[in-house]
Amino acid sequence: MPGVKRVPQRICVGCGQTRGKKELIRIVRTPDYQIKIDSTGKISGRGAYICRRLECLSAALNDKKLVKALRKELPQEIISALEKEISDENY
Ligand SMILES: [Zn+2]
Repeated sequence: MPGVKRVPQRICVGCGQTRGKKELIRIVRTPDYQIKIDSTGKISGRGAYICRRLECLSAALNDKKLVKALRKELPQEIISALEKEISDENY
């Protein structure tokens, strides 16, 4: 596609919408089975994306969508860190 700037698109596990990578938070399950919030986009492992919205975070958690995407339960400290990261964005 000449002239079209390609922005990487990812799907939010909360709302299912496709968005630009920068609008999403990446959560990674690393090869040694740790869950990390990947703010650099460079951590290798199995990743899942959510919008920077609390609705999407709770949808992703409530329906176990994140657990299914990562194949691991999210530790409470990761959930808290995600909540904090998202609410910080709104100020
Ligand atoms: Zn979303």
